[in-house]
This record gives sequence, structure tokens and C-alpha cells, in this order.
Amino acid sequence: MINYLQNLTQDFPILKKKINGEPLLYLDNAATSQTPTPVLKQIRAFYQNENANVHRGVYTLANQATEKYERVREQVAAFIHAPNAETIVYTRSTTESLNLVASSFGNLVVQKGDEILITIMEHHSNLIPWQQLAKRKGATLKYVELTSDQTLDMADLRAKLTSRTKIVAITQTSNVLGVTNPIKIIARLVHEQHAYLVVDAAQAIPHQTIDVSDLNVDFLAFSGHKMLGPTGIGVLYGKAGLLAAMPPIQYGGEMIASVSRTEAKWQNAPWKFEAGTPNIGGVIGLGAAISYYQKLGVAEVRQKETQLMASLLPQLQAIPGVTIYGSPKPAEHAGIVSFNVANIHPHDMATGLDMLGIEVRAGHHCAQPLMAALGVSATVRASVSFYNASEDMERFAWSVERVKEFFERES
Ligand code: PMP
Repeated sequence: MINYLQNLTQDFPILKKKINGEPLLYLDNAATSQTPTPVLKQIRAFYQNENANVHRGVYTLANQATEKYERVREQVAAFIHAPNAETIVYTRSTTESLNLVASSFGNLVVQKGDEILITIMEHHSNLIPWQQLAKRKGATLKYVELTSDQTLDMADLRAKLTSRTKIVAITQTSNVLGVTNPIKIIARLVHEQHAYLVVDAAQAIPHQTIDVSDLNVDFLAFSGHKMLGPTGIGVLYGKAGLLAAMPPIQYGGEMIASVSRTEAKWQNAPWKFEAGTPNIGGVIGLGAAISYYQKLGVAEVRQKETQLMASLLPQLQAIPGVTIYGSPKPAEHAGIVSFNVANIHPHDMATGLDMLGIEVRAGHHCAQPLMAALGVSATVRASVSFYNASEDMERFAWSVERVKEFFERES
């Protein structure tokens, strides 16, 4: 294991907590990551010493707050290799970013009879906005299916991507299977058909370097809270020409160039999409989270998570009755493992684990069409982070066995 990453738990005081009398083992990092002290300190320092509204005041404090807020935009652009800060829109979350693209850009380009292509592994936030857009426009929503090894069926994608396709919306990394899709190849295929590619990077951003310029995606969305930042702050990257053509979908302060009794003119992108007082503290926290990641090294984080998966997957697989979803290869899990235990409801398993101090997610994971495709109604999902240790994996597998034994005795 990498030494630096081993000593990080001191940055996460929550990990010293007890749950039901047992030491907390937090394995729901795919739902939200814990926030390290250096990020919390910067958010507090902003509210304590620097708080003012942005883009409004002519006074020093407001100018300093605006400068910090805009500097983080540059930091985000550099982090995902976007050409400049003007391609970065602050939103509330991945969900809001994807809704913004569907409502504004989708409304602009999708016509009756067009097709929108998504995949069966989408989170509801990259599914429902397209489903509803298709309904509004009289367009057809199509799904790329899975192969028998539960990865994206690229042959199916090639077959369904035609000159009728206007938008392809796809997750970079699945929040259930952990698999990462070949976005660069998909971008080339999409552009050959003169369609646009929207990428949901909510699960990819904490696990790998993202280069939007190299991938050549048209839009990419992610949330701060899945990458050590606070909740309530998200990002939408969009190509400059596309953002320029898109109308705003929210109106109010800060997004206008001028207003008369009958007319209003918008600011340029990205500010025309940021109506009202934004989540300034959230932006400061996002900047701090990016700095923290960069200090760790995104590649090192990925390596540690793969080591944890390499330890956990065989231990889980060895338990009789366990079915693991997704690839058998640890490197293809992005720290996520979804599984079921025969004859035990996922909610019972998660409740049993909670009694032992272990926090995991159970349910449909906001991916009901994927659950249907897998032939289940729910799974248990454990998702690790670099702050977990290999002993945690042993404790987790041991605990799954104990909960299994308990329910087998009861039935
Ligand atoms: N897409 C994926 C793949 C996700 O895992 C999530 C969060 N579970 C989202 C989108 C939505 O993110 P948020 O709730 O932060 O908007």
C-alpha cells in the first residue's frame, strides 16, 4: 500500500465514530464521500473571515469573494483539462447539470422524430431528463444494452447510433457495476453521426483523471460531494460554442447584461446560467477538494482503490450464495461492488451490517431499468475510498458472513 495514503484517516474525524457500539466502517463512498478537515477549514475560513456576495459589490470584501469564486472556476477547468474557465458552469449537482443540458440544449436541438440514445446503466438523473425531453418533443428514447459480462454492449451502441440520433447521454462510470465506459471511442462514433455527447462523470471524477479536451465530449457533469467536497455544488462543462447557443433556464439576478420593462439581455456563458446568489461556500469547498485530490495524486487514489477491490472481491466471492455484479476484474470496479446473497433481502443485509457498524447502501441505486436488466429489484452496494484499509475489507467480508449466518438461523 502507498504510505502517504495510509495515514490519512486523521483528516477524517468522522471515521473515529462508533455506530451501534462498533467502530464505523463507512463503505458508501459512491453515495457521498467524507469531507476532509482541510476542506472544512477553508469553507469555515471563508464564512468566518471573507464572506460577501459575489459579482455585486464595489467594495473590497465583495471583490475578494468574487475573485476567489472565479479562481476556483479556473481551477476546475484545469482539473478536467477544459480549454478555459468560461466553459465551466456552477450548478447545484450532477442532477442539475444534466437537467440544464436536457432542458436548454436538448430543447434547442431535438425535433419530432429524432432519437436520443442513452444506456441501460444510467442513473435516473441521466435518464429521466432525456425521457421527459423525448416525450415533450415527440422524439424516441433508445437504450444501449449490456453484454452477457455486464459491460456496455458496444456493438449495440454502434447499431443504435444512426443519423437520426441527436444526443447520446452516457455515464462514464456506473454507480452500480463500477464499470467505466470507453468515452473517447464513443465520442468519435457520436461525432461521426453529427450527434452530441453528454457525459455523466459523477462516479468517474473521484477515481480517474478526466480530460474533456482529449475525450472530446460536448458536455460533462459532476458533483463536488462525491469528490471530498461539500454537497450542493456541481459542475457542468460545455463546449464554448454550444454554451453560447443555449438559452438560460433560470432568470433573476446576476445572469443579465441589462433589463428594461419589456426586455432583458443575458450575460455570456457561463454566468447566464447562474441566476441568483450562488453557493459561494460550496465553490470554495470544491476548490479545496480539488487541491486535496491533487496533493494525493488521482492515479495513487485509483491504485489504492484497485488494491482494496483486489482484496475484497475474492473474499466476497468465496462466501457461498454470493452473486457479484459487474466485472470479475478489480480494476474495472472503480471502488464499487454490488452484490446479493441468496435468500437474504439486500435491505436485511444492510441492516445487519449496520448493527456491526458498517454503512453500505441497499436498494435500486436510482437505476431501476438497470436492476430490471440484471433481473433483480435491488442489490447491496459497498463502495470504498482511499481512506479505507485492507483490514476493512477483511472485516467487511467477515461481517457479511456473520449476517448471512444470522438470517439462515432465523429462517
Ligand atoms: N449519476 C451517477 C452515476 C451517480 O452515481 C449519481 C449520484 N448517486 C448522480 C448521477 C447524481 O448525483 P447528484 O445526486 O449529486 O446530483
